[in-house]
Amino acid sequence: MEKVQIPVQKNQYIEMEFTGFGHDGEGVGKYQGYTLFVPGVLPGEKAKVKVIKVKKNYGYGRLIELIDTSQDRIEPKCSIYKQCGGCQLQHITYQEQLKQKRLLVEDNIKRIGKIEDVVIHQTLGMRDPWNYRNKSQVPVAKREGGLIAGFYAKRTHDVIDMKECLIQQEENNYMIQTVRRIAEEIGIAPYDEKNHQGILRHIVTRVGVNTGERMLILVTNGKDFPNKEELIKRIVEELPDLTSLIQNVNDQRTNVIMGLKSITLWGRDVIYDTIGDIKFAISPRSFYQVNPEQTKQLYDKALEYAMLTGNENVIDAYCGIGTISLFLAKKAKQVYGVEIVPEAIKDAKKNAELNGIKNVTFEVGAAETVIPKWQQQGLNVDVVVVDPPRKGCDQSLLQTIIELKPKRVVYVSCNPSTLARDLRILEDGGFKTIEIQPVDMFPQTTHVESVALLTLK
Ligand code: SAH
Repeated sequence: MEKVQIPVQKNQYIEMEFTGFGHDGEGVGKYQGYTLFVPGVLPGEKAKVKVIKVKKNYGYGRLIELIDTSQDRIEPKCSIYKQCGGCQLQHITYQEQLKQKRLLVEDNIKRIGKIEDVVIHQTLGMRDPWNYRNKSQVPVAKREGGLIAGFYAKRTHDVIDMKECLIQQEENNYMIQTVRRIAEEIGIAPYDEKNHQGILRHIVTRVGVNTGERMLILVTNGKDFPNKEELIKRIVEELPDLTSLIQNVNDQRTNVIMGLKSITLWGRDVIYDTIGDIKFAISPRSFYQVNPEQTKQLYDKALEYAMLTGNENVIDAYCGIGTISLFLAKKAKQVYGVEIVPEAIKDAKKNAELNGIKNVTFEVGAAETVIPKWQQQGLNVDVVVVDPPRKGCDQSLLQTIIELKPKRVVYVSCNPSTLARDLRILEDGGFKTIEIQPVDMFPQTTHVESVALLTLK
């Protein structure tokens, strides 16, 4: 085999131009044909770079100095932007973020999906791309004489204290600061990951943006702890707008934030929120989209692509608390939702009842086991909607969808690379991808959500 010549060496200084973005918002460019990723550089910029890692087909560099700067470069609004890593695109104008997200989807669809003739629309953006998140979850740690709550410094588990997060709803920031202070004042022991000691692990908050309801979840290492009653009393006193105070017990050595057991300490077990004219109950462990304004746009698009007339049987796979299912049910004959988290299905059933929607059935289980069962029972489906987690659809589920031959598949995805992989499989199985709508659910970050429409060939 011919030996590939790599034109750079580790620690070498070079000057190069950048043409695009990588997955984490880093700049990508070619130096004498060799691809380098460099964080902090924008497409269209020229920079002096130090090569820090050299692999066979690509390498990584560190920005030393910008030579030509892009007109899309702006000053990041957040003072802890560099340390945090939660946002990756604050140094880029919002218009350019939207443009780059579309290009990211297009690149994946062409490179991984090998799909050429598909319409990829402009990214649907927000009017005001700040303070949008309805859910916040921050780790707690010990600091000299007290307790901090914030974020893990990039690529570490070192907690850095945070006063506010600019992409969070202000209520979330306020609740976190209040709990942090109270916990410190009454001496609640912060959790220490290294020796698995201490009590308070994470503070999780959620707001129903359209109802004003608020949930606060204290994730603790064990159920009982000193000053628990005092903690509850103070929180209820100082957060008079709270709807629900939950303790979630997580006594495992794990990076997973919440444990299996949730106890209501005060108030309701769930909070409610509305999207459009549908009302949803949300439990502590249930998935609920984090950007309510954009969720409406996303669901409207999914509904439009489903092209329902009232006569269709529809499957909603990975249905969570039944949000998309209930939107679809208003226009379909019957909707079948499936979801793996039991509490979410409990919420989904409650939500159907709450909204007086009767033509929907929910089942707990893995989509890849439950849907083949429905298939064996002779279910005839017209439209399948999937909305899987980042890893995409289970491969056997895609085979089942191919066998079910629905007229349309609507694929909602939070990861363009697994979307592209799965669309390829569906294309090979007899579907054609017609159009893809990227939706900006996560401004200031590299994440991009998309809805794809496929029809049976
Ligand atoms: N459609 C919902 C939820 C999407 S998030 C909404 O828009 O709110 C993806 C969901 O898939 C999560 O609720 C997760 O619990 C669920 N999930 C993960 N793996 C699954 C599987 N194998 N089968 C069914 N559901 C699964």
